[in-house]
Order: sequence, then C-alpha cells, then structure tokens
Amino acid sequence: MHARHRYSDKSALIVTKHGKEQVIQPLLKWYLGMDAVPSIGFDTDQFGTFSGDIARTQGPKETVRKKCLSALEQYSKTIGIATEGSFGAHPSSPFLAAHEEWMVFMDLENKIEVYERKLSTTTVQFAKSFTTPTQAIDFLSSVDFPQQRVFIHAEEQLYRTAVYPNDLPEAIEVIKSLIAQREKCWITSDLRAHANPSRMKVIEGVTEKLINRLLTTCPSCSTLGYGREEVKRGLPCAQCHFPTSGIQADIYVCAQCGHREEKNESDYPKSQNPMYCLICNP
Ligand SMILES: [Zn+2]
Ligand SMILES: [Zn+2]
Repeated sequence: MHARHRYSDKSALIVTKHGKEQVIQPLLKWYLGMDAVPSIGFDTDQFGTFSGDIARTQGPKETVRKKCLSALEQYSKTIGIATEGSFGAHPSSPFLAAHEEWMVFMDLENKIEVYERKLSTTTVQFAKSFTTPTQAIDFLSSVDFPQQRVFIHAEEQLYRTAVYPNDLPEAIEVIKSLIAQREKCWITSDLRAHANPSRMKVIEGVTEKLINRLLTTCPSCSTLGYGREEVKRGLPCAQCHFPTSGIQADIYVCAQCGHREEKNESDYPKSQNPMYCLICNP
C-alpha cells in the first residue's frame, strides 16, 4: 500500500449504476487509502444509453463531467469518480472497432478535476445477424455468453422488444422462435460494465492510470493530476530524416499552471521505418 496520500481516509462517491465499484473501490483503497461508495439509485441513463434509446448529446469528456457533478449534488458529496465509455471506429484505423473509456476525479472543495482515458481494441462489441439457430448458438459460446450478456432481437436496430436472456436454454428458445418466424435474428453485445467483462477490465485499467495521475504532481506548481495530455509527432525517417506522423515523445501538461514537458517514458523509437515515410514510400 502507498504511503499516506492527501485522500487517505477520505470518502469518494463512485458514480455507477452497473457495478463499476467492483474494480474501482479496491484500487482506490489500495493505492490511496481512500474509501468509496457506489451511487446506489442514481440514474446514469439520463446521460445516454448504449442501446440508443437515449442519445448522448455531448462528447465523452463533457458527459463524464456532467454525470459526476450531477451525482455529487444529488448525494451531497464533494469527491466523486465517474467513467464514460465510447464505442466506435478507431481514431487512426477506421476498420478497427475501438472503445475509449474516460474517467474523471473531482474534488469540489479543492477545485481539483483530473481526467484520464484509455483506448482499447479488445473490448467485446458486436451486432450480428444469423439465419440458422446452429450458427447463432455457436456464436454465443464463442463470445463467452452468459458472462458476456447479449440482446437478441428481430431487426438490426435494437428495439424495445429485444430479449435479454439470462442463460443458454433461454437464449436458444428465443433464437429458434425468431428464426422460425422471421428467418433471421440479431445478436448484439451488452456494453454495460457489469454485463461486459472486457469493458470492466478497461475500467480497471483507466482507474490505475487515473490513480497514477493523482499520485503525480506538477514539477512547477505541485498541483496533483499531472500527466500525458498530448503526443509529439514528426518522428524522423530512418533513411531520409524527413519528419513522419510517428510519435517521438509524450507531452505532459499541468492543467493548473500550464507547465509543459516532453517525456519519453513510453520508449518511442528514435526513427521511423521508411515504409511509413511520404518521401521514401509515397
Ligand atoms: Zn503546474
Ligand atoms: Zn524517408
């Protein structure tokens, strides 16, 4: 366990409706000595749902901030933690499915707001159609159902009629009946934390990153939450030294005083393979 931290013995509210405290609570306790309680009864769905019933109107950073502030107000707490997942195409490889989890730590009394995020390409997410029960049932076992929960429905869009089976016999019955009636059924992954073990793993990872930030202070003004905000591109080509889009350093920025620093703790290479150079391989 870490030495005494300014949040040791303080209590935080974990904003969740879907069991995120399972992974967040033990890490806070272990690294910061901090206690945390989940926001029992808080409706996080008002900030958008994955099934598309309620659309998210803002970006993930604004959404996670609003969600945290709103819960802190409702529970009359001053320290809170919230996360927000986004699912879609990978920012630099559009054919890859990506998941990005944003997390915020807020301490209203001390005006501290620390953000962290984690990008994952291994989070389980799918929406597939099947025309035979055998294919659909094989698929369910390949995605580790029922640990990974699914919605089964008749049409591509998730309608309110989607069935949420608890076990394999129930799922098989729904699949057979839909295919008999409609010649097709759709199976879509549940992205909510408690129903998606691979997402829960990413939430655990982003919590570790956030805690690391809470343990890091700005070398200039000592405010906590100092960390990587940007990357420096322009990694020179190994052959012609022309700058490429490759990353050469991380840029740390202090949200409080604006102090900036280039760091290479990620061990980026010194030069780029000419294959990715616009001059050598146009
Ligand atoms: Zn600073
Ligand atoms: Zn080159």
